[in-house]
Amino acid sequence: MSTRRDFIKTTAGVGTMAAVGPSALLGAPAVRRQMVTPVSVASSNGIESVARACEIIAGGGDTLDAVVSGVNLVEIDPNDTSVGYGGLPNLDGAVQLDSSVMHGPTRGAGAVAALEGIKTPSKVAMAVMQYTDHVLLVGEGAQKFALSMGFEVEDLLTERARRRWIEWRARMSDTDDYLTPEESGERIEGFTEPDSYGDALLDSHDGVRPQGTINCNAVDPAGNISGVTTTSGLAWKIPGRVGDSPIVGAGLYVDNDVGACGSTGRGEAVIKTCGSHSVVELMRTGMSPTDACLEALRRIVTFTVEPRLRDEQGRPSFNVNYYAVNKNGDWGGAAIWSGARFAVCVDGESRREDSAYLFERQG
Ligand code: ASP
Repeated sequence: MSTRRDFIKTTAGVGTMAAVGPSALLGAPAVRRQMVTPVSVASSNGIESVARACEIIAGGGDTLDAVVSGVNLVEIDPNDTSVGYGGLPNLDGAVQLDSSVMHGPTRGAGAVAALEGIKTPSKVAMAVMQYTDHVLLVGEGAQKFALSMGFEVEDLLTERARRRWIEWRARMSDTDDYLTPEESGERIEGFTEPDSYGDALLDSHDGVRPQGTINCNAVDPAGNISGVTTTSGLAWKIPGRVGDSPIVGAGLYVDNDVGACGSTGRGEAVIKTCGSHSVVELMRTGMSPTDACLEALRRIVTFTVEPRLRDEQGRPSFNVNYYAVNKNGDWGGAAIWSGARFAVCVDGESRREDSAYLFERQG
């Protein structure tokens, strides 16, 4: 998929192009075309997020403020069961959130993992970046820090998420004492309802658990880049499990000389391949965002050797999605399996695009 769009004004001749600085020595694109409007790319559930991010940047705002404000819309939305408030809980019924942010111009990074009780973990990640000498705070320490910064601790488990969790618990085993909805005769509202973000249900970690997260990246006309990833992580996870989203280099990576990338999907696969960092490094060599995403996904395929994670043809039985933007404002998204989509805002307009993919989904 070509991601070059005419919102980028190009002029013939190198005289009009600006050098990007010392990173050219590391293989970054030596020239930068002039962008006229901001560009933002996000996971499919971020359609409103990219719009907000571009609006804030167009109004003179900073790229990190823009993307964090964009994902806050989804974090506080109880209908997105993969992020923030309303997120599906862990094995014990506790909603544990992961998030990371990176601010290209200042080379800043902040993250939180297994954070409970705060609706907007991306803002806490941003506070870690701004107000501490650390990059990652986890669990109780992350919550204490958030409290000290004035965040409010709230119950994040919505009734809908709780009921999906108790149904999952009931279906885990037929030798325990929990009754399934069929056995108890109770219809569990919510479990079979389509998610309001249909794409999130298209993909699954294991055929049962929906996957989802929001990643949002943006570049402004001056070429400044930021990104954020935020999630409630894998539904029904082992308490304390941390996914890729709060791991700098895995679920998010930004290099202001090159571009940004973030991921959704099976976090373990992304962590093992340093996914988002790999995509940015591939873009540094001049690869387009889409091609870089596809190449990093091929590495996941190579790394997936466990029979339990492969289909009968040896392909991963899970999905991973990457979303990327480079300093020129070229953008792209790709997934292991066909059918995935992502959100993009260019030239002041937001829309969803089909992700490039490695394998065609059957049926
Ligand atoms: N990447 C997230 C994680 O592994 C979840 C997801 O995107 O579905 O925690």
